[in-house]
Amino acid sequence: MISLLLLYTIINFQSDFKGFSSKDEALYYSKILNCDGYFSKDEDGKTSFFPCASQSELESAFQDKEVEPKVTEIWDPEPVAVNPGKTFSEAPSDAIVLFSSNNLDEWVHKNGEEAKWVIEGDYFTVNPGSGDILTKKSFGSCQLHVEFRTPTEISSSGQDRGNSGVYFMEDPKSPGDSGYEIQVLDSYKNRTYSNGQAASVYKQHIPLVNASKGPGEWQSYDIIFKSPVFSEKGNLESPAYITVFHNGVLVQNNVQIQGYVKYIGYPEYKAHPSKLPLKLQDHSNEVSYRNIWVREL
Ligand code: MG
Repeated sequence: MISLLLLYTIINFQSDFKGFSSKDEALYYSKILNCDGYFSKDEDGKTSFFPCASQSELESAFQDKEVEPKVTEIWDPEPVAVNPGKTFSEAPSDAIVLFSSNNLDEWVHKNGEEAKWVIEGDYFTVNPGSGDILTKKSFGSCQLHVEFRTPTEISSSGQDRGNSGVYFMEDPKSPGDSGYEIQVLDSYKNRTYSNGQAASVYKQHIPLVNASKGPGEWQSYDIIFKSPVFSEKGNLESPAYITVFHNGVLVQNNVQIQGYVKYIGYPEYKAHPSKLPLKLQDHSNEVSYRNIWVREL
């Protein structure tokens, strides 16, 4: 059922008096607007249903109703109840938990082998040289919470300091990187190219601010990812968009992703399935992760 606000938009922005294809919808509005509806057939034999006798009657009926607060109340649908976590970082009841402690059962190396990163209590750490790990489950548009920690000991600078990455929609069959990367890096007093620092959409979008904590401190990303849409022929119909909060600070505000991540060259899209795994990058730095959960959107 369309809302009264949408009906208001229809009558205000369409010069023609348009009817509904659904009799039930027209009757619903006839009833609440308290006017007499009718139906008519066009030349093609298609029936349209009108909630009021004319456009002007519809408008005046709506204006009469507009003054009543109830007219702008929307009751359907009612949001499903979800139990939030005890803290803002804890998984809500409808989330898929990808790591809480003890095992990497939700993860696998790109070559299909068991994930060999190192688990210690409630976190795990990149095992340098063992390769990236991907979720066994596939996701499209989603909300992701992930916490990470770059090494306390600083042994390098720029892109070699606490480098890892959170990838969306990584194709396990792709020989190289194929997903969309939010960079993980130690960007605390560590200058590098701005579109390659922590919380950048790697080589595409500079974060709005640098909200990094220091080496060895736990940090969080809360990410809202809208997956791209491809036509059946593989043409891009709608690009991907991403919003990122770094340690609770908005750093990417619904930016349009230009294509899959590329270290060399300009980003471009390649058609892919509507759901693919998430990926964490092994960039040979001992970055740790904990408390990872995702909600499908
Ligand atoms: Mg990286």
